[in-house]
Amino acid sequence: MNIILLGPPGAGKGTQARYLVEDRGMVQLSTGDMLREAKDSGTEMGNIVAEVMAKGQLVTDEIVIGLIREKLETVKANGFIFDGFPRTLAQADALGELLEAEGQSLDAVIEMEVDDEALVSRITARSTCGTCGEVYNDITKPIPADGKCAKCGGTTFNRRADDNEDSLRTRLMEYYKKTSPLIGYYYAKGKLSRIDGLGEIDAVRAAIAGALDS
Ligand code: AMP
Repeated sequence: MNIILLGPPGAGKGTQARYLVEDRGMVQLSTGDMLREAKDSGTEMGNIVAEVMAKGQLVTDEIVIGLIREKLETVKANGFIFDGFPRTLAQADALGELLEAEGQSLDAVIEMEVDDEALVSRITARSTCGTCGEVYNDITKPIPADGKCAKCGGTTFNRRADDNEDSLRTRLMEYYKKTSPLIGYYYAKGKLSRIDGLGEIDAVRAAIAGALDS
């Protein structure tokens, strides 16, 4: 099964993708994670995307489609979770073609609905474990009192450079202008399920499971 998690920054796509990996043995393909890796590796492409990402703008379609193409051609999986991709109509068209070329198809698109106010407080409160990437939130899922990651025991936690209010404002605008048209695009294809992304993490996890199993 191949699925897309669609929603604004801070909707919880990364957190829920990790649960799907755990629950269903699927493979998470996060273009944000791939771009952060490229940025940290200091390659030419990494240097180009670093500035764009810091401002909260979208990286070019050509770059992100190239990253996804490479994964689809080389990684064999029981199903992919596309997390943060596609973000434009051109990316959505490209994904359809890439899946078809691999003899695969897209099964479902889960739209995670969250209001803007909640997004700002979620994003400015979030951090991730530097060792395993587990996502924490000062309000909804704080780092354990002993300062160790509940999943791997790691003791370093990072906040993303673009998780600040200025960048978030641009990221939200990019989402509404360029990504939200995908809601209609996938609705018209009969692939869209909407779930409330504002509930408790486990309730959202159950809602996604329900949508995928129905
Ligand atoms: P994310 O981790 O999904 O929030 O992505 C972080 C940043 O990476 C975004 O704000 C964009 O600058 C860039 N990015 C990630 N995925 C894409 C994509 N599919 N298309 C364009 N830019 C992307």
